[in-house]
Amino acid sequence: MLHEMSWVEAKEYFMKADIAILPVGSNEQHGPQNPLGTDHLIARAIAEEAAKRAGAVCLQVIPFGVSSHHKQFWGTIYISTRTFRNYVKEACLALNYYGIRKIVVVNGHGGNLPALMEMARELRAKEIFVSIFQWWSAASKILPDLFKPEERGHAAAEETSVNLALYPHLVNMDKAVDEDPRKHTAQVEGITLPLDTVDCTVSGVFGKSTTASAERGKRIFEAVVNELVEHVNLLKRAKIEDLMQKPRVK
Ligand SMILES: [Zn+2]
Repeated sequence: MLHEMSWVEAKEYFMKADIAILPVGSNEQHGPQNPLGTDHLIARAIAEEAAKRAGAVCLQVIPFGVSSHHKQFWGTIYISTRTFRNYVKEACLALNYYGIRKIVVVNGHGGNLPALMEMARELRAKEIFVSIFQWWSAASKILPDLFKPEERGHAAAEETSVNLALYPHLVNMDKAVDEDPRKHTAQVEGITLPLDTVDCTVSGVFGKSTTASAERGKRIFEAVVNELVEHVNLLKRAKIEDLMQKPRVK
């Protein structure tokens, strides 16, 4: 962990390595049973474990993200896309000042993705390669076998299970509920509406959460950490020229 090192230790690392892991997430409602920090707490745990196994430095988690769509639920701390993008970017640029050119952002909140993608493209043009890792995508092969479709929504059994595996003391399963999200009256196939969570659910849970289990959460954690370690090792070995933007075609 970078923040646990002295500057002398950090110098030693930065002199010999060109890779770092940066977890980001959000602080937003995750139903009555899960902590508000779910998305950044999960990202942090995955990033720290993978960093340990792959021998890469891991930064502190950036806890606030793009989640104004959850704001009607108390305690959601939301920041704008622009502020989030710039904050993460400047953290990456600070790493780059010490020679880091490969940065793996471990993102725990889907709503952050457009901002992160925009930032990653911008930094690639500045010769910094930022990849974005998301656990639910990393486990996409096993998740449909572990969970029914109604268990896979926001704050439902899938996410609650990962919390139960990592932070059981922060989950209150007595409060877990199952709620079918409401369909908006204007909804048809192919339409995207600028809705908030509260337009669709009373509890904040999209689907079934009462069936969550630590055992399934552990399987997800192990699978996604393995995937992330593999990615970090591939990036470590990759030549920086192969990661950079290509020149104009002739
Ligand atoms: Zn979440």
